[in-house]
Amino acid sequence: MPTTIINVSNRLPVTVGEQITKSSGGLVAALEGLSADDYNLKWFGWPGGAIVDAARQRKVQEILTEDHGCIPVFLSDDEVAGHYEGFSNSSLWPLLHYMANYMRYDPAWWDYYQTVNQRFADKVLQTAKPGDLVWVHDYQLMLVPAMLRERMPDLKIGFFLHTPFPSFEIFRCHPKRRELIAGMLGANLIGFHTFGYVRHFRSTVLRLLGLESEITRIRSYDGHTSVMGVFPIGINAAKFAEALDSPEFTKRRLELETSYAGKRVVLSVERMDYTKGILHRLDAIERFLEELEDRDSIKFVFVSVPSREEVEEYKELRAEMEARIGRINGQYSTLSSSPIRFIHASVNFTDLCALYSTADVGMVTPLIDGMNLVAKEYIACQRDRHGVLILSEFAGAAEELSNATLVNPYDAQAVAESLTAALAIPEEERRACNEPMRDRVMKYDAQHWARTFIEQLAGTVAGTVTMFDRPEKAAQLLSDAFSDSKRVALFLDYDGTLREIERDPRAAKPTPEVLQLLHLLDQHENIDVTIISGRTSADLEAWFGEHDIGLIAEHGAAARRAGTRAWEQLDRNISYRWKDEIRDVLRLYEQSTPGSFVEEKRTSLVWHHRKTDPEFGTWKAHELMHELGTMLVNEPVKIRHGRKIVEVTAEQVSKGGAVRRLLSQKPYDLVLCAGDDQTDESMFEIESPSFVSIKVGNEPSRAAYRLRDPAALRKFLVDALSAASPAAFEHEGTPAVA
Ligand code: UDP
Repeated sequence: MPTTIINVSNRLPVTVGEQITKSSGGLVAALEGLSADDYNLKWFGWPGGAIVDAARQRKVQEILTEDHGCIPVFLSDDEVAGHYEGFSNSSLWPLLHYMANYMRYDPAWWDYYQTVNQRFADKVLQTAKPGDLVWVHDYQLMLVPAMLRERMPDLKIGFFLHTPFPSFEIFRCHPKRRELIAGMLGANLIGFHTFGYVRHFRSTVLRLLGLESEITRIRSYDGHTSVMGVFPIGINAAKFAEALDSPEFTKRRLELETSYAGKRVVLSVERMDYTKGILHRLDAIERFLEELEDRDSIKFVFVSVPSREEVEEYKELRAEMEARIGRINGQYSTLSSSPIRFIHASVNFTDLCALYSTADVGMVTPLIDGMNLVAKEYIACQRDRHGVLILSEFAGAAEELSNATLVNPYDAQAVAESLTAALAIPEEERRACNEPMRDRVMKYDAQHWARTFIEQLAGTVAGTVTMFDRPEKAAQLLSDAFSDSKRVALFLDYDGTLREIERDPRAAKPTPEVLQLLHLLDQHENIDVTIISGRTSADLEAWFGEHDIGLIAEHGAAARRAGTRAWEQLDRNISYRWKDEIRDVLRLYEQSTPGSFVEEKRTSLVWHHRKTDPEFGTWKAHELMHELGTMLVNEPVKIRHGRKIVEVTAEQVSKGGAVRRLLSQKPYDLVLCAGDDQTDESMFEIESPSFVSIKVGNEPSRAAYRLRDPAALRKFLVDALSAASPAAFEHEGTPAVA
């Protein structure tokens, strides 16, 4: 049985007009190259235009599906304006290309972007089946992966970003930065052209969502893993090879050679886009012409394919470009020729190949470009002429085409000098440079790119990988115990477990949701609740003193049992002399790491780095761990790098120890411990026949069950109570504790 691949891109490879025309871009070639024995391809996307009439939509869908394997997602003119021209091309495109000054933002565009992304996801979900591979493309559809995963976690979802992913400092400018990356993280596999873009993406995810990652994988809080991969896209090599062997190509090349006889040809081909560095290139050309003696000896050919002409910045670029070219031609033309030939149109494929092949120099100098296929196409067409590729360092393609003449497009003088030098490189040297590049370009083509992405996607594991039991099982155990009036002990860690973490620990006082949950539990005589925390007894007393619940403070050093007001010190025979030795060290780290601070507790000293730069803070924490490890080898302490803290605690004190002690004083039919942090792991080690351990969050744990966050834990407890005594809840309605 072939595997179904659902390919989702903003635009379908067909356009619906009077007739249906098929386009033949790289993506089409890439996907058509996949074997039909192995894969069954369905393509979802917008067919162009606005087809509003329902009967016509049905008809178009029928024809596209049956004849072309395409499923149309219809969009209105307003949706195209808001989602595509607005949010995608006027907001995201400039930002992804480091042009924050061109970024515009309108909240209405965001509404359209969400609506259209949801429309795409819904359309896919109408036909997708668990196990299908879904491949979502590019910045117009960043939210689709998470939308798909939410409804069908068993899909294998891939996302490929065809643009650069910029540094966090740039991406953070976008008002919807978090939503956008959370959308991408719905994918099982996220592909980029270069490792640099992966690096920026990881750092952005860390800084915006607080998710740590390994080099090529990120685990979200719910245990879902996104793998990141580097897949540099290639050209449609077979199509170029075929064209270069065609008689039509030979004819067109001869015509061009004749018309440019006696001149060296320098070619630029691109969509007219401000990222392509056109105005900077004109600066360089002007400097080159200033120095050139024989002005009839050169011809610059600019093929500028019209692009996004409805967007203001593109209109301005065109006007500026035309004015500049007019000025340069005015200044440097002779009676017989002008230096720049400007073609503001698309050229047909054979002409393009003939141009690529005729040009002595391919001048590809974008200010930034995800990949840049023109550079690879130029090399592919230089089969026997060995022309020189002048390539911007800032194009993704520069990583693969390192034998090209690499330039900084912002340095007009250096680009002009590179051009002079390029025109003088001897043939042998040009051949030696080009051959390995051409081999690579022809081998690692678009089909290779698609195959490797799809194969890796097929190898990912769909759904959420978890070593944990389903929480429903724990909920059942708990509600059974509640309804049978068994004696139940709940040991609930506070920060990060019962209540959400705050950047400032003092701000984390109990919310109304937490208090309401405690109030509910309080009404059940057979349930003993103990809040267990690393906080001081004074903190806990201030917040929970009035409640009739048990309290364990300072990771188990002090306890107040339910029904009593007195605190019992559990660490009476323990020495804390080691604290004096390390206090100064922690202070040094506090000074040298902005945003960090030292907290002193009775049983421990803690260095917090939650508010520091996440990478710097983590690096300093590792350094501190190493230093403390050597200093404290012979002391009775535990050193731990927990969630944004480095903590030194007396070895004999632990939350698990304190819980065991309370359990030895009163027997229970069911014991539940919940925690989010390393210190809670000592509770999860308790061995008892009716024992439920719950980890809150996505980190590894020895607990048997996992819940996503404090809200999920509170809901879990309320649901178990309501399942045990539904009547009480019917009367009051479900409390808003989550
Ligand atoms: N191209 C085209 N028509 C033309 C000139 C070029 O379709 O008249 C193609 C060119 O062959 C290349 C693509 O447009 O495949 C441009 O891709 P690139 O990655 O260089 O830049 P992008 O336009 O994606 O930013």
